[in-house]
Amino acid sequence: MSVRVRIAPSPTGNLHIGTARTAVFNWLFARRHGGQFILRVEDTDTERSRSEFTDNITTGLQWLGLTWDEGPFFQSQRLDLYRQAIQTLLDQGLAYRAYDTPEELDAMRTAQKAKNQAPRYDNRHRDLTEEQQKAYEAEGRQAVIRFKIDDDRVIQWKDLVRGNMTWQGSDLGGDMVVARASSVAEIGQPLYNLAVVVDDMDMGITHVIRGEDHIANTAKQILLYEALGGTVPEFAHTPLILNQSGQKLSKRDGVTSISDFQKMGFTAEALVNYMTLLGWSAPDSEEVFTLEDAAKTFSFDRVNKAGAKFDWDKLDWLNSQYLHDIPAAELVEMLIPYWQEASYAFNPDADQDWLTALAGLLGPSLTRLPDAVEQGHFFFSELMEYSEAATQQLHQSGVADLLQATLEKLQADTVLDSPASGKSLVNEIVKAQGIKKGLMMKSMRAALMGDMQGPDLMESWLILHRRQFDIPRITQALELAKG
Ligand code: GLU
Repeated sequence: MSVRVRIAPSPTGNLHIGTARTAVFNWLFARRHGGQFILRVEDTDTERSRSEFTDNITTGLQWLGLTWDEGPFFQSQRLDLYRQAIQTLLDQGLAYRAYDTPEELDAMRTAQKAKNQAPRYDNRHRDLTEEQQKAYEAEGRQAVIRFKIDDDRVIQWKDLVRGNMTWQGSDLGGDMVVARASSVAEIGQPLYNLAVVVDDMDMGITHVIRGEDHIANTAKQILLYEALGGTVPEFAHTPLILNQSGQKLSKRDGVTSISDFQKMGFTAEALVNYMTLLGWSAPDSEEVFTLEDAAKTFSFDRVNKAGAKFDWDKLDWLNSQYLHDIPAAELVEMLIPYWQEASYAFNPDADQDWLTALAGLLGPSLTRLPDAVEQGHFFFSELMEYSEAATQQLHQSGVADLLQATLEKLQADTVLDSPASGKSLVNEIVKAQGIKKGLMMKSMRAALMGDMQGPDLMESWLILHRRQFDIPRITQALELAKG
């Protein structure tokens, strides 16, 4: 049997990290077994579904590398299929029209609450006679269609994550609504559980992998598979993603959508790697891997039952691992938009080599992409400010002379195009001035970078030199050193 799995997002919001993590597990399982991964957009809720959310979801999945083999299929284009299935259930006496008004349903719930009972539909319209139905219709009542759920039914399945699962029919809330606003002539809006089962049957889904918040739906859906004569697939209910206080990660926790993580400067590779670790661990305990690598060993045996706590430090750590490894030519493309947004002066085409060198210099110290704005700031302008430590350094004795000598060398067209040529320039000055190399290096750091800390001095100098920013800076520092 060839594996067929699906991700079935509802476009009622941007791509949520929980949905994306479910997509990761589906993708990994499909790849592991040479199967198919299908994208189905569950947009039957016409009031809350929006095409911009669909776009956000599809671009988010693509950005993460969670490519699908079939789809996207849209439930809104498949309504006839669901209505046919509902008609079949009606014809077989497995479903019926219920005419309760909202007020009657409210009154039922209030009475149940007063008796400390869980809210449920008491199946009161299950066996209406044709006359009763007609009478309700004549009153102008609108029906819903309910699928019969017997209280004494026991529903069992072997969940790939949670093991043996058992549900009692009486715990499913009574006969369930599968379509709204249905007259005798017409079946209204089909609902989630029904549409999912019809689609999963029609699309030949072999494994339903989704969040554990759907467990009660699974029990209901198994009954629908049986009623519609479908083969019940395997189920894997994945743990929820929790915040630091152990609650389900929600909008209140701030960032939850993939596009927000992208804006914050996480790379797709790091984010998808991190999401894989939210509930799964590799057999060799490796934590940094590509999706392809993870797919080689992915199985539900190593998926936890317990919720997975979201850990920003770990995500940051993973992101820095990726940023430290990305080739400069690739990294620069990711950094240019941030530098542009910061209105730094450069020409993306003409300065391409220079920008790439800068990306190569900064890469090893980045945690998130926007860090390159602050860390890169002083490479984009001639004039600078000096920290207190740098000012002190520039006031040391002998510094004005060594800066003067360096300036003269640079103005005399000394070639400075490699770490080796930089080193020999430094050595010449050290020798001629009769000073310690440490004084030279520290003073150059203060003069060129305005601070005693920062990226590699020689690399930084070469980058500044390429845009002729070093001479004005040394000139400026010399004024300070003399004063
Ligand atoms: N549309 C459902 C959701 O977004 C899909 C659940 C399922 O995978 O069956 O939660």
